[in-house]
Amino acid sequence: RAIVRDLDLLEAKNPVLKPQPSSIIDPTVFEKRFLKKIRELGEGHFGKVELCRYDPRGDKTGELVAVKSLKPESREEQGNNLSTEIEILKALYHDNIVKYKGICLDESGQAVKLIMEYLPLGSLKEYLPKYKSKTSLATLLSYATQICMGMEYLGTKNYIHRDLAARNVLLENERTVKIGDFGLTKSIKENDGYYVVKDENESPVFWYAPECLTQCKFYLSSDVWSFGVTLYELITYCDSSKSPMHLFLSMIGPTQGQMTVMRLVGALKEGKRLPRPEGCPEPVRNLLLMFSICEAIVNFRVKDQFQSLLG
Ligand code: ADP
Ligand code: MG
Repeated sequence: RAIVRDLDLLEAKNPVLKPQPSSIIDPTVFEKRFLKKIRELGEGHFGKVELCRYDPRGDKTGELVAVKSLKPESREEQGNNLSTEIEILKALYHDNIVKYKGICLDESGQAVKLIMEYLPLGSLKEYLPKYKSKTSLATLLSYATQICMGMEYLGTKNYIHRDLAARNVLLENERTVKIGDFGLTKSIKENDGYYVVKDENESPVFWYAPECLTQCKFYLSSDVWSFGVTLYELITYCDSSKSPMHLFLSMIGPTQGQMTVMRLVGALKEGKRLPRPEGCPEPVRNLLLMFSICEAIVNFRVKDQFQSLLG
């Protein structure tokens, strides 16, 4: 008892010694030393995502999380981008958007990693070619509906995603998909309803609507065009020989850099579009064509049409 009294006394004199009640510990700050890498999950232009176990007790009972960081070569110029992505994802709550879990700081207290929930089945781009036989058209249309719901929510928050594609849609399980990768996402709040791109290098041009390519302007409805291209990817089960890039390139011939964009715009102006995928029902093809008239569509309420196709 004497020892306890001495300890209490010591704590009273030195408040820093007092153990912090656990509610004060911020559960969204992950300590680097407890993040144990298991394997790589994937990478895009700027970032890479790893599967890690957050294991403060060190007995492998900790939870699995997906950890996104910038590739070393993009750290300099893209450093800010990850913090923007973190701020955006942190404020999004929707069943069809990947869940934010927290951040991991470096020694100087800067956020260097984004911690998200781990979605074990990966992206549609990896999943669909593998599980083609057990994925019916009805399931694909249900994924499409869910993407619409996530995108509609994103629009209500005045964000344009700017990188909607099968590689950025993740599966929670065989029935549920979630939109991920908010690395190119921009707010249109202070921008007259559109965002003007400053740095167009590395843009996913084959997913982009004409106004994005010719004027570098992005509207909420520009995402609808990308959704059409994503729907095309779904219906082709992300077969790489039929990928939008592959098909557009065979349409316009092999080119590089700005020339690609110019020829792509030319082809789109002539009315050239991705072909109707094998086994794609007429109503879905009509929807696909409708998405390419993107100015005519202002939101993702088209989900109702998918639901009616689902019966
Ligand atoms: P980038 O900005 O580099 O494209 P993404 O956020 O798109 O990074 O992630 C790259 C890839 O990592 C995705 O295409 C997907 O395969 C995988 N991935 C990303 N987030 C998760 C996650 N939460 N769970 C499982 N796999 C993921
Ligand atoms: Mg990506």
